[in-house]
Amino acid sequence: MHHIGYIHSIESLGTLDGPGLRYVLFLQGCPLRCAYCHNPDTWSLYRGRRVTVTEILTDIKQYLPYFAGGRGGVTVSGGEPLLQAPFLTQLFQALKKLDIHTALDTSGYVDVEKVENLLRYTDLVLLSIKHSDPLKHQLLTEHLPYKPLRLARYLTRIGKPVWIRYVLVPGLTDAEADITALAELVNSMPNVERLEVLPYHDLGVRKWEELGLEYRLGEILPPEEAYTEKTRNFLRTLVSPTVKVS
Ligand code: SF4
Repeated sequence: MHHIGYIHSIESLGTLDGPGLRYVLFLQGCPLRCAYCHNPDTWSLYRGRRVTVTEILTDIKQYLPYFAGGRGGVTVSGGEPLLQAPFLTQLFQALKKLDIHTALDTSGYVDVEKVENLLRYTDLVLLSIKHSDPLKHQLLTEHLPYKPLRLARYLTRIGKPVWIRYVLVPGLTDAEADITALAELVNSMPNVERLEVLPYHDLGVRKWEELGLEYRLGEILPPEEAYTEKTRNFLRTLVSPTVKVS
């Protein structure tokens, strides 16, 4: 059976979402409602362009020379890509046959049982931790964090390489207790290779307006680069030295 995927867009040679040059496929659909989301147009699953695995593979094959020698690969992002696990499993299975590195960029909001098979064909998981405090997580995303935390524990159990991503929002995610709790989570996961602290930005506001949605963080300014770096330095004192903080 060939599964259909619903995609938002493609970035053919990105440098931010995993090691080396990446073919980044952004999928439609997301169950979360992060207050800082810069792609609210990905939330609805069926808004996207319908594609087959064969179509995407044909497109990816043009970039094979850029991935040679393990220098890059394919990252699937969203939205929340794990909503389309059956489609992705077929895609990643085919990519592994071609020896292409595969990465998932996810908020982890999924039942583990639904993605166990997909994870067998996934080399790296970029796991966004939205907040380390359950109630603040709910305020920020409209959902409690139990599914992402369960996925995090599963990834640790199977020894899957993980990069943790954390958006630094002044006044919302940057309290010392929040950062310390984030470090504790990272330290409980020996499979974490990297911790990326991403400064909040408000570049998605226009999309919220176009969709007739109210942007809740209108009063919050993006952090200064020096402040973000200070937070990274604080985290460097807290997490294992084997974790690269960037
Ligand atoms: S998980 Fe990503 S796509 Fe979904 S609401 Fe949050 S920021 Fe937006």
